[in-house]
Amino acid sequence: MRVKIDEQRVVRLLQDLVRIPSVNPGFDGGVPEREMADYVEAFFTRLGLKAERREVRPDRPNVIGILPGIADDAPALLLEAHMDTVQTANMTIDPFGAEIRDGKLYGRGACDTKASLAAMLAAMEWFAENGVKPPVPVHLAATVDEEVNYLGVLDVLEAGHDYAAAIVGEPTGLHTVVAHKGVVRCEIETVGVSAHSAKPEEGVNAISDMMKVVAHIEGTMQARLLRSAAHPLVGSPTLAVTQIQGGVAPNTIPERCVIRIDRRTIPGEDSEQVWREIRAEMEQLAAENGGLNVIVHPPFVLDYAMDTSPDSEVVGLVASSAAGKIGEVRTLGVPYGTDASKLARAGIPSVVFGPGSIEQAHTKDEWVELKQVVLGAEIIGETMLTFGK
Ligand SMILES: [Zn+2]
Repeated sequence: MRVKIDEQRVVRLLQDLVRIPSVNPGFDGGVPEREMADYVEAFFTRLGLKAERREVRPDRPNVIGILPGIADDAPALLLEAHMDTVQTANMTIDPFGAEIRDGKLYGRGACDTKASLAAMLAAMEWFAENGVKPPVPVHLAATVDEEVNYLGVLDVLEAGHDYAAAIVGEPTGLHTVVAHKGVVRCEIETVGVSAHSAKPEEGVNAISDMMKVVAHIEGTMQARLLRSAAHPLVGSPTLAVTQIQGGVAPNTIPERCVIRIDRRTIPGEDSEQVWREIRAEMEQLAAENGGLNVIVHPPFVLDYAMDTSPDSEVVGLVASSAAGKIGEVRTLGVPYGTDASKLARAGIPSVVFGPGSIEQAHTKDEWVELKQVVLGAEIIGETMLTFGK
């Protein structure tokens, strides 16, 4: 059986989704995802499918639509796509216009990741409207908060369903992404003693102390990471100093200086362990520089690397269906994080897959090629048709 998705139907769906603002509340101009969730819930209800609504935070619900399978007690196939987007500042197009030109649809979230959500909704609709049952149940989780804290996907894991595998919608150009890096971000603070800058010898300069910390990070730690074994799909781990703040006035010896670091982990590294190692290394540095007062704060962002076996059933099915439509399908690793690593860490084999290119995500004129959205829906539909058979 072929899954044939009507292009006009997908276009309408994607336009609806883009026209509902869902900038993550963590960004300027953000709003809770409630209106998007309402739309998705009504969509499932209209199809006669059960929809579970879970308030992850006030006014920020996940919606999980449930398509029954032939073996309805079997672990389900999970389709997951986030509803939130990044900010719209400095965009050169109407972020919520959903304008179509030359086969492309423009707007914030058009490719990241409302195109994937539209493709998944269209696939679910095809099954419901044609009265076709997939071998195992399929759940579509439309989630909140991927762009900031991953609260939505973490709540999906709390919902008590049993998942055999997951397809996580992100713009991959219809290729399969099986590996990505994790990340640890934390603040490192040096604490000195303030004094009048006319008598600097009476104080301890926290900025000067921080220079030793930064020199160690850039001179020793970065070089060591570059020499370490690289992962075949995502490369080497990295470490960067990304922000710095220190001092209160031009005539005061600074008592505090704070940097933020961004450490990207690769499969095989444990992000929590990596943070503990950074803390230990800074304690060592302090001991070697008698009297240096360095505090490594707990991570304010922590995510895990992902490494799904390319031989797992879900990866194979998505790839073979995609190959039938776009020719050569690549198995990729990517440097950015997604919801998939949280699912994978919970033991659910997960593949990241969807229409559009990551090059267009978060950009000032974000767009997606409509043809890809249709193909994406058909590939997801064909995977639903065969998974667990
Ligand atoms: Zn995304």
